Amino acid sequence: MGSPCAHSIPDRIQLLQAPRGYNCLQEGTAMTDFTGRVAVVTGASKGIGRAMAQQFAARGAKVALLDIDADAGNAAAQAIRESGGDALFVHADVGDFASMEHAAAQVQQAFGGTDILCCNAGIYPQAFLETMTEEDWDRVHRVNLKGMFFTVKAFLPLLKQSEHGRIILTSSITGPITGYPGWSHYGATKAGMLGFMHSAAIELAKYGITVNAILPGNIATEGLGEIGEEYRRKMEAMIPMKRLGKPEDVAYAALFFASDEANYITGQTLVVDGGQVLPESSLALEDL
Ligand code: NAP
Repeated sequence: MGSPCAHSIPDRIQLLQAPRGYNCLQEGTAMTDFTGRVAVVTGASKGIGRAMAQQFAARGAKVALLDIDADAGNAAAQAIRESGGDALFVHADVGDFASMEHAAAQVQQAFGGTDILCCNAGIYPQAFLETMTEEDWDRVHRVNLKGMFFTVKAFLPLLKQSEHGRIILTSSITGPITGYPGWSHYGATKAGMLGFMHSAAIELAKYGITVNAILPGNIATEGLGEIGEEYRRKMEAMIPMKRLGKPEDVAYAALFFASDEANYITGQTLVVDGGQVLPESSLALEDL
């Protein structure tokens, strides 16, 4: 099997210890530069979506920020442009297919296509089973699950034209791995996203499009902010890394799935949670 560089393994170990800027290892480990590619992020006005847009823009991609919050979205796009990036805010509701088709047309007109699609918009209002209404259930499903489907469906014609098509879903540890009182409807949507992903990854492989999901733990975003200081403090105590995640922590996982280096990975998940799902019980965290 061919080696990416001409050095033997002992040589390469030595090179790992060599000064920075030397040799082919650097070339082998550098992540894709996204210059010339277009990244579309839903729910990009705030939190994780905004961090994804910022990170793709910082690596050269043209980014389209789709959201229902126009003030925050325009401010986020403006901040990217002021940092030298290329960004466009598009007012779009993921739960409305006509709105998403319109957004895809706007992105096509402004940037000429789409290479990377981050289905990130999601809501997580708490509702307990005994009082949860059909409306509560439908509202969460409309945004989180149907919204993901509408986003993929609207942008698929553009992704099919790309040589680097990537779909990246923001799921959650809640649902696929864990549960939390008040989020059964939310957990159902986040687990549902993975069910969608498994079949979508097979269907879209023939176009070279990969479909992968990120499962964030507790990430300090505007959306989580309303949950309160006490929740935050208690949650941090339960995370081996003893802190909530930053939006950028999740965005870096999106960069990886979008990279050329990840071109043979599809239908997979990446947990970004500071080790939160690892302890068998709270005993595992005692004396740490
Ligand atoms: P956030 O700070 O609340 O930001 C989400 C953005 O999406 C907001 O600007 C929101 O607008 C927008 N949005 C809501 N409904 C929309 C719609 N129908 N169409 C388009 N945009 C819409 O959320 P976040 O914490 O960054 O979460 C982003 C994603 O990560 C979600 O899918 C969430 O489930 C997932 N996630 C988050 C965490 C966490 O700890 N934060 C953990 C696991 C997974 P409004 O503010 O006007 O509603």
